[in-house]
Amino acid sequence: MGSRQRLNKLELDSLEILGYSVAGEETVITVPSLDVCFDIGKSPEPALSINHVLLSHGHMDHAAGIAYYCSQRDFREMAPGTVLLPKRLAGPLENLLACWGQIDGTYPPANIIPMEAGQEYEIRRNLFAFAFATNHCNGSLGFTIIERRQKLKSEFLDLPGAEIARLRKSGKEVTYTMNMPLITYLGDTMSGDFEQLACVRHSKVLIAECTFFDSDHHDRARAGKHYHFDNLSRVLEQMENEHIVLTHLSRRTDIAKARKMVNKTLPDELVKKITFLMERPRRKPPAETEKPPPSQ
Ligand SMILES: [Zn+2]
Ligand SMILES: [Zn+2]
Repeated sequence: MGSRQRLNKLELDSLEILGYSVAGEETVITVPSLDVCFDIGKSPEPALSINHVLLSHGHMDHAAGIAYYCSQRDFREMAPGTVLLPKRLAGPLENLLACWGQIDGTYPPANIIPMEAGQEYEIRRNLFAFAFATNHCNGSLGFTIIERRQKLKSEFLDLPGAEIARLRKSGKEVTYTMNMPLITYLGDTMSGDFEQLACVRHSKVLIAECTFFDSDHHDRARAGKHYHFDNLSRVLEQMENEHIVLTHLSRRTDIAKARKMVNKTLPDELVKKITFLMERPRRKPPAETEKPPPSQ
């Protein structure tokens, strides 16, 4: 089975997400329509065609495939991939690629963009990646993808185009900037100040890790700086997202049990918003187009 089959596909309104995430093993979440890939995991095939990789931190389960991603794009004569990553990892990534250059004989080219909390990077026209500090390891970052558009102020909506053009020419501010946070990726983290950021709270889609569900695993969650479901559930109740995707469950967590816990613990309104990235979609019953065979 190729790597493509391992990834799970979610359709959240018009946004398609294709990814894989198991704590300690691999996390890679592609959003093809926005041309971003949150973390790279082991660089599965569908990630290669995405032009921007946003690395949240350097742990192997999130970053192992980065050199392969850069190298494969070169091999397939694609433009170098753009890699946004915590500033302190930019030097080490350059070293890693240089090492691969020595081992492989060909240096994997990359467009490396060091990011600090509060900085933004333009993915394409009207689309930006905003970085914020998370609470996992030194310099770890989360990202919100924000669509930004200039909108006509309401008082000018009824004016003819020529009149608006005249006002604009005379120096009048006829537009305002509208920011629409489309999707937020928290990477690995425990609770932190980022939970208060407007772009995180109002992001249409929130991708949050929830590594531990077991009541015996609070110590582990604290030690690894991960969310435990008991903490995350309180945070989610304050959020205004339309969809919440839970990722990075520990290998030993049974998704069906985790789902039951979500359904039992959280209010219905919130339960409806929650999807597990690795939860397989329920099979539709077979279509009843064929008549049953005649009894013999
Ligand atoms: Zn991880
Ligand atoms: Zn980690």
